[in-house]
Amino acid sequence: MAARHLIVGGGTAGMNAIRTIREEESARSEIALVSAERPYSRMVLPYYLDRSIAESHVFTATAAALADWGVKAYVGRRAVELNVKTNVCTLDDGTKVEYDDALIATGSSAVRAPVPGADGRGVHSFWTLDEARGVIAAIAPRGHVVMVGAGFIAFTILNSILALGARLTIVEIAPRILPRMVDAPGAELVEGWLRKHGVAIRTNAKLTRIEDAPGRGPTGPRKRLRFASGPDLACDVVIMATGIKTNLDWLKGSGIGIDKGIVVDEHLRSSVLNVYAAGDVAEGRDLVSGEGAVHAIEPTAQEHGRVVGANMAGRDVAYRGSLLINIVEVCHLDVASFGAWDDPKAEAAAGLKADRPAYRKLLWTGDRLTGAIILGPSSDIWTTNDVGMLKGLVQSGVSLGRFKTSLKANPFNLKPAFIASKTTSLLLPETVLGRPSKAPGDTPVAV
Ligand SMILES: Cc1cc2nc3c(=O)[nH]c(=O)nc-3n(C[C@H](O)[C@H](O)[C@H](O)COP(=O)(O)OP(=O)(O)OC[C@H]3O[C@@H](n4cnc5c(N)ncnc54)[C@H](O)[C@@H]3O)c2cc1C
Repeated sequence: MAARHLIVGGGTAGMNAIRTIREEESARSEIALVSAERPYSRMVLPYYLDRSIAESHVFTATAAALADWGVKAYVGRRAVELNVKTNVCTLDDGTKVEYDDALIATGSSAVRAPVPGADGRGVHSFWTLDEARGVIAAIAPRGHVVMVGAGFIAFTILNSILALGARLTIVEIAPRILPRMVDAPGAELVEGWLRKHGVAIRTNAKLTRIEDAPGRGPTGPRKRLRFASGPDLACDVVIMATGIKTNLDWLKGSGIGIDKGIVVDEHLRSSVLNVYAAGDVAEGRDLVSGEGAVHAIEPTAQEHGRVVGANMAGRDVAYRGSLLINIVEVCHLDVASFGAWDDPKAEAAAGLKADRPAYRKLLWTGDRLTGAIILGPSSDIWTTNDVGMLKGLVQSGVSLGRFKTSLKANPFNLKPAFIASKTTSLLLPETVLGRPSKAPGDTPVAV
């Protein structure tokens, strides 16, 4: 078993790997963590933005906790090179860290639309804690925020912006919002809902330039956005939620196989056998299609981290693959999609209750549900329950033969199929490590 583990990246995947190594190993090994930032959870940043939580609550491990776990931490340091022949990682201050095996868990970074002015003052991304601090300092009550991009990340911070008392306009280059999360009928319902709640939306809006505008807003110079067609937009703050890219540039020339992400096998090993990858940077198996996919979401980072940690600790744990899960709540409307929700080859059946509004779309491959879209008011008990049931049905891949006809006729009536197919008991005993999850030490929270 490897005695010296190197973890590069202290986000969700990296921290889960460290905890799992300590849980699973038979003899205490050396762990070195190299992380450009202090360990924290990006997923909770929207709650920090609207002050539901203090900044101290975003961190996932203190220096004391890392010391307790026996981790040698290089926090604030960046890995710049991995020599897979000599098993040495070089840091940005020239430090060399030797390892027996390594995990690459360097996550992703926000990418801005390539237009003049995108890097100017008053234009922000919202991906890291530093970027969140910048947005917090910029948004003032009654200020006007323009969000460029109407994808998942934009929607995770939408409630927080409104909660701060700001006015919000969303501009999107595609003909509709959430183009990579829901289909056109679903997007139309969400769009109508948001407009009713005071959010302005402009689709088919090709941004061409951002410049300073005359006058000052509550926290700085006003900005003006210009478009290929249509009127300009003036505002106080611009947030670019225009996509992300994997943090893999530092591995160029390392010899590690990279396609959309680091290509990994079922043990999450890269083409270099003592180098693993996990989370946003890993191109692992998609649970539904079996194909390689990058799922830049929290559950995948967590599961990948657990599986890599167990393998690094000497266990032989294969991973079935990760389920694509998108869940957001905007102005008390739940919106979710699972698995292959846009598979053109699947047999699809949809149900719509425009007045609530509520929408379900079920996608079938044979008698299995392989994808689903669901949206409805959070206050509606059927929405809340159905989100969980749909995820379970897609994740378990359970055969729904005798319920298929009735579900296709009424996609709102999931409960009988969910209960009769014993989906809960199929999923409950199953953990990614093949045993009940347990927390390190006395921590009451299972990870
Ligand atoms: C605002 C926001 C909301 C989100 N909401 C959700 C949600 O609701 N549901 C969901 O499923 N997902 C959500 N996500 C996505 C989720 O947070 C990510 O998928 C998850 O953080 C990925 O974990 P990771 O460990 O792969 O990478 P990260 O958490 O990004 O961690 C990567 C770490 O590597 C470090 N690093 C990078 N390069 C280097 C280097 N060269 N050397 C050393 N260290 C380096 C970084 O500083 C960072 O600490 C959200 C993300 C954001 C930003």
